Amino acid sequence: MIPTPYRTDVFGADAYGVELTVDSADTERLLAVEPSDVAAAPELTFARNVFIPLTTACRYTCTYCTYYDPPGSATLLSPEEIEEICERGAEAGCTEALFTFGDDPDGRYTEIYDQLEELGHDSIHSYLREACEIALECGLLPHSNPGDQTHEQMELVADLNASMGVMLETTADVQAHGGPRSKDAGQRIATIATAGELDVPFTTGILVGIGETARDRAESLLAIAALHERYDHIQEIIVQPVVSNERWQDGSPDLETMRRTTAMARTALPDDVSIQSPPNLAPVAELLDCGIDDLGGVSPVTDDHINPEYAWPALRELEDIAETAGVPLSERLPIYEEYVSDEWLSPRIEAAIDADDEAGRRYRALLD
Ligand code: SF4
Repeated sequence: MIPTPYRTDVFGADAYGVELTVDSADTERLLAVEPSDVAAAPELTFARNVFIPLTTACRYTCTYCTYYDPPGSATLLSPEEIEEICERGAEAGCTEALFTFGDDPDGRYTEIYDQLEELGHDSIHSYLREACEIALECGLLPHSNPGDQTHEQMELVADLNASMGVMLETTADVQAHGGPRSKDAGQRIATIATAGELDVPFTTGILVGIGETARDRAESLLAIAALHERYDHIQEIIVQPVVSNERWQDGSPDLETMRRTTAMARTALPDDVSIQSPPNLAPVAELLDCGIDDLGGVSPVTDDHINPEYAWPALRELEDIAETAGVPLSERLPIYEEYVSDEWLSPRIEAAIDADDEAGRRYRALLD
């Protein structure tokens, strides 16, 4: 029997104006991939960043997430706090200001909106624009990850970001996203498509172990691959295991699952899309032969605020991982080198990279 292509509304993206088809024959082929079908990467990269949790407010309540705070305890960093973190980062040689959010705070977060109003902003994206300006002035390139975004929201901040991101996590409906305010795979697909329409180099990925099946993982990777084929804008895919924390006690995926999933990611995407494994969350040393070529952003200055119980490794540990693999380790910018061109850089980011100042020289040193 000839497999029928999945309908375009399988992932719910059609509700957001995005048509996406994943062919079930491709899914079957990807499900058959084994680690021995892919090759280890010839080199590893990482980025040096500061992690800036602009707000911990989030409209959703994913059951594995300790990042969000409920209304009444959510925080919003002040411009002074942002500047202080960025200055420390620049002094420590970082190049990336990683702005993290919960998803667009809803109307329950009245105190966050009061604070935004006091700062002269009517939305979190308007404030993000100011935050990106601060980062650029301090000598860091912004990479914002503000959850789902509409075209208007992303357009408001795209020109001040070297790259942006959101984790697709999974195309499946999983209980871990359940509850009264459940996030929607279709909307995340639409956000990734919007980045393509706006020529924003983009980072996305899948979260493994939140109740999805192997088939869901294959479909999620193929959905990302289809968007990349359309827009050519996916610079890297993160393959991230869910980890235990005070809200999630359902365990992490086993090593075999991580190995197969990483190999599937390497197979689903063209070679110029990096496959990243976060060394503070995943058993990276045991995944190196599955096609990983990037160790993500690590910070010599700030904590991983999304996974605060899992400390960033020191640079020495990354060097040990590369040494074990017998490959060179090099530092990269938050925008991958393939995207450092007129086609992808906004004038503001291009000017920051070309500037005859200390920050510009630091950026260009990583491109030589
Ligand atoms: S994972 Fe993201 S969307 Fe879900 S609750 Fe946490 S911050 Fe919000």
